[in-house]
Amino acid sequence: MLNSPSAAGHIAITRVSKYFGKHKALDNVSLELKPGSVTVIIGPSGSGKSTLLRTINHLERVDEGFIQIDGDYIGYRREGDKLYELKEREILRQRVNVGYVFQNFNLFPHLTVLENLIEAPIAHGVPREQAVARAYALLEVVGLRHKAEAWSRHLSGGQQQRIAIARALALEPKVILFDEPTSALDPELVGEVLDVIKKLARSGTTLVVVTHEIGFAREVADNVVFMVDGRIVEQGSSEAVLNRPQHPRTRNFLSRVL
Ligand code: ADP
Ligand code: MG
Repeated sequence: MLNSPSAAGHIAITRVSKYFGKHKALDNVSLELKPGSVTVIIGPSGSGKSTLLRTINHLERVDEGFIQIDGDYIGYRREGDKLYELKEREILRQRVNVGYVFQNFNLFPHLTVLENLIEAPIAHGVPREQAVARAYALLEVVGLRHKAEAWSRHLSGGQQQRIAIARALALEPKVILFDEPTSALDPELVGEVLDVIKKLARSGTTLVVVTHEIGFAREVADNVVFMVDGRIVEQGSSEAVLNRPQHPRTRNFLSRVL
């Protein structure tokens, strides 16, 4: 159920820059993520981590460079040497490949847990019965099958985030992006959410996780990327970046979060 059918979810970010007015939020970022890999992005507030995640599913348009998932240009189609921006409907179709988990869960509060999980699949044409069956299987994965009929607003923060992760999986994405998935949680609820993400880490889906949980990164990440001022200052295996950081900015940052 959790396994991707093939080695899909290869992300290639090539010389991407993004401006907000005159402010350069992303500055010539290049990054390649292998199918099924887990990448943790760390860096101080304002360094461009969320902006980078948002460009990966075209919630932000890049100003320079391009992003590909399994060769498809995100938000664009290529003709010869030119890229043409996709229409909204085509962008939505492309986004099915990319799940997104937000800091504040963003569940639909007026829907039950089950309804939260079947809404997108049904909107994408999955028959209701099939969507429900998959929803129950996903609830099993996040350990919340018994909450199917609960109102999402009645769940704890940790439970809501686990449901949000199940929802991100509902359309069988190739890639899941997590933007500080535990930073809105009380400390005692962080572990249950990280445990679910750890479980996904062995499923074949490509994961990109922005987090300050260095212990989690050490345990789960294949790659760690450190950003400052919209630039990647250092990247490499988690072992290299976390245990033997080369750049003084990385050392300084790690000494403050550890
Ligand atoms: P991080 O997630 O690392 O904290 P962000 O990607 O949110 O950083 O932000 C990077 C920079 O871009 C910050 O200086 C932020 O203020 C700016 N920024 C982000 N989103 C917007 C926006 N929609 N409009 C203007 N500036 C933005
Ligand atoms: Mg952010």
